[in-house]
Amino acid sequence: MASSFTRAWIGIGGNLGDARATVEEALAHLARLPQSQLLRSSSLYRTAPIDSSGDDYVNAVALLSTSLTALDLLHALQAIELQHGRERPYRNAPRTLDLDVLMYGDARLQEEALIVPHPRMTQRAFVLVPMLEIDTDVVIPGLGPARDFLDAIRNQAISRL
Ligand code: ADP
Ligand code: MG
Repeated sequence: MASSFTRAWIGIGGNLGDARATVEEALAHLARLPQSQLLRSSSLYRTAPIDSSGDDYVNAVALLSTSLTALDLLHALQAIELQHGRERPYRNAPRTLDLDVLMYGDARLQEEALIVPHPRMTQRAFVLVPMLEIDTDVVIPGLGPARDFLDAIRNQAISRL
């Protein structure tokens, strides 16, 4: 059977513990995903929390080529989150690592487990800026060029680490 590869964009973020090290480790994990190749990764960025207070976030975006299905990819990301994401053994402990499927090829999915393109990606500098660092011409399925959304998020503080 011929395998078919899809370009998948992954959003990476952390704000607990050594977030920079966690994001670096997440990138190393993504490079080892089965049936996948890490094509590009952005710089690391520091961003202020948007809907909460607390420590700054460290964010990055990765571009994969994968033959995993969208759902298998999500599950693989969740396994990485579990390995790195819970530093404290109490219930509802905040996660050190958040991995989101931002886009999966041209797919537009509205399932409970997986919505792509990620519904809030156009409102987040920590997604758009690293993504545009990788590909200034990237197009969001159903929404258009990612760069068209930059103007609306220009007030969000973000700096390259
Ligand atoms: P956040 O929305 O801040 O990333 P969580 O990571 O806790 O919050 O959300 C995880 C839930 O969101 C999971 O149950 C997952 O199935 C669901 N989900 C829906 N769409 C996506 C997506 N594109 N990427 C990652 N998780 C998603
Ligand atoms: Mg998430």
